[in-house]
Amino acid sequence: MAEPLITDIQRYSIHDGDGIRTTVFFKGCPLRCAWCHNPETQRFTAEILYNAEKCSGCLRCTAACPEGGFDLLSGQFVSEHCISCGKCAEACLNGARELSGKYVPPAELVRQLVRDLPFYEESGGGVTLSGGEVLAQDPGYVMEVLRRLYEQGIRVNIDTCGQVPEEVLLQALPFTDTFLYDLKLAGAEEHRRYTGADNRRILSNLRAIGKAGARIRIRIPLIDPVNTSEQETAAMIEALAGIQGILSIDLIKYHDTGSGKYARLGRAYGSGMETPGEETLHRIARQFEEAGYRVSMGG
Ligand code: SF4
Ligand code: SF4
Repeated sequence: MAEPLITDIQRYSIHDGDGIRTTVFFKGCPLRCAWCHNPETQRFTAEILYNAEKCSGCLRCTAACPEGGFDLLSGQFVSEHCISCGKCAEACLNGARELSGKYVPPAELVRQLVRDLPFYEESGGGVTLSGGEVLAQDPGYVMEVLRRLYEQGIRVNIDTCGQVPEEVLLQALPFTDTFLYDLKLAGAEEHRRYTGADNRRILSNLRAIGKAGARIRIRIPLIDPVNTSEQETAAMIEALAGIQGILSIDLIKYHDTGSGKYARLGRAYGSGMETPGEETLHRIARQFEEAGYRVSMGG
């Protein structure tokens, strides 16, 4: 299995669980959600992001490229032979090219994460492993990171889409404080339409970790009109019925803030997705509350 790559380590985050947290974004995800706001974390390989607004056209990048450069005129900023070596990004003086995806050995990653231990302790926070999908990375690597953090007394949240092997989730469970578990759509085929895979495995994994004693916060990204109807909320409530370990339902408002990254990766961004209005959000929250769940709103 390839070495896991990291796109970013965000310190002082307050959105990925309790307290002050450091969030690690792994590169590579089995799903392709139409609204993904971190598209640079979808592929498992390193990639170059190109920001045309910062580019002066000096062609230092082309000169530095061992694969023969690329054709700026055609708009193809990355040669089809690109090997993601990052030499063009190093050569660019304007920061117009950026290499996304770096391997960090487990011991080095944990060394960086331990630096914020005083903040975690003071705020009741910790580390959140996110992505992309952390549990789709090499399990040996992930378990080593989890064990080392556990030994340091750092509480870890795992932010997961759930489309991963059940045994990996169960292996990670003893070292995980809370799972931030995504639920996007209740219907299997609708789920496939918007994310590239149906949700059968996601729901059965959720049942399995709940039964095994996991603490779970369900995270629902709300995208109008994809998953904001009254019927869809009712179907989600039905899909979650009887699942153990659910602490809360976290509703996350969709924003198109990631759309600029698609252009920088040379990819198209989906259309017809809107931020839900306040009225819709409150109605969805009420539906979950009436079903007996604690609800939080963010995004
Ligand atoms: S080196 Fe940077 S500024 Fe120069 S052409 Fe390449 S991307 Fe543009
Ligand atoms: S990452 Fe390397 S191979 Fe790819 S375009 Fe840049 S210099 Fe060329």
